[in-house]
Amino acid sequence: MQGTYDQENIFAKILREEAPCVKVYENDNALAFMDVMPQTDGHVLVIPKEPAETIYDLSEDASLACMRAVQIVGKAIEQAMGVGGSTVFQLNGKAAGQTVPHFHFHVLPGSLLGLKGHASEMADPQTLMDIAEKIKSFID
Ligand code: 5GP
Repeated sequence: MQGTYDQENIFAKILREEAPCVKVYENDNALAFMDVMPQTDGHVLVIPKEPAETIYDLSEDASLACMRAVQIVGKAIEQAMGVGGSTVFQLNGKAAGQTVPHFHFHVLPGSLLGLKGHASEMADPQTLMDIAEKIKSFID
C-alpha cells in the first residue's frame, strides 16, 4: 500500500508530530490516542506506526503491536470508565465508511448501540485530557 498511501492523512501527521493528539499508550509499532469526535466518553483509536491504509496492508509486526495495544488499552478503558465490557471495531476503505485512510481500531467502553454517530461532534479538549489521564492510570 506504500504506493497509494496518503502521507498527508491526519493520522500520518499525528505520527510525524505535525498534528496534536491526546496520547494514552504506545509501543514500538503502535500508538493509542483519544478520538477527537468520540462516539462516547472513553473512545480511543489504536493505529500502527507504519503507513498502512487497511487491515489488509498491515505487516505482521504492526498487526501484533496493534492487537497488543488494543488489549492493554481496552482493559484500561473498561476499568477507567467503570463499564464491564468494551467494543472494538474497524473499517476498511471508503465503501465501508472509513474516513481516515490510515488503519485504526476503534476501542469504546460498552456497547455500540445507542451511541453518537461516527465522527460527528468534536469533544471538549479538557474532557479528552481528563479521560486520557484516567485511562492511563490503569496501564502499568
Ligand atoms: P474511520 O471513519 O476512519 O473509521 O474513523 C476515523 C476516526 O478518526 C473518527 O472516529 C474520527 O472522529 C477520528 N478523527 C478524525 N480526525 C481526527 C483527528 O484529527 N484527531 C483525532 N484524535 N481523531 C480524529
